[in-house]
Amino acid sequence: MRLILMGPPGAGKGTQGSVISERYGIPAISTGDIFRANVASGTALGIQAQQHIDAGEYVPDDVTNAMVRDRLTQPDCRPGFLLDGFPRTVEQVKFLDSLLDEQQVRLDGVMVLTVNAEELVGRLLLRATQQGRADDTEPVIRKRQRLYDDQTAPLIEEYAARDLVLTVNGMGATDHVSERIDAALARLRR
Ligand code: AMP
Repeated sequence: MRLILMGPPGAGKGTQGSVISERYGIPAISTGDIFRANVASGTALGIQAQQHIDAGEYVPDDVTNAMVRDRLTQPDCRPGFLLDGFPRTVEQVKFLDSLLDEQQVRLDGVMVLTVNAEELVGRLLLRATQQGRADDTEPVIRKRQRLYDDQTAPLIEEYAARDLVLTVNGMGATDHVSERIDAALARLRR
């Protein structure tokens, strides 16, 4: 199964991505996590990415795409994968299309988690106290939300035109959201 998990910052992509990964035995690939790991260990990639991440901006497409190519061509991605936080721009969609064409595989679905705006800010401010992410301050959160609305949300239309979108209500308890995701994936696999 090859899936994209989309939704605004705070929608629960990381949490639900881990659940899906375990249940379906596919790696969850979070571009944000890979960037943060590189920042933490001070690699060249981390140094390139850090200023963008801290400012709540997108890391440039060429840098992000090269990283995704490296990751998706690893053997563990052969049976499938779940992408969390990628693609986020039109350029990244084009890049992913060409990479999957090269590999002669197709996407099975694009799952969109929906959560209302007030709930999102509340969740991110809570996460800030738990994880201490530099980009979880209120002004940076707002900037990331704007970027999502401007650059990433429009991608849903593109995937909807390909009949790939599954919309899942991301409000409420983690377990309830996981159940809704399972139901949506069951429809996909039928
Ligand atoms: P996330 O953990 O998905 O919220 O990502 C954290 C930050 O990493 C984002 O605010 C961006 O700065 C960067 N990032 C993650 N994924 C991407 C992507 N696909 N394109 C550009 N920047 C990204």
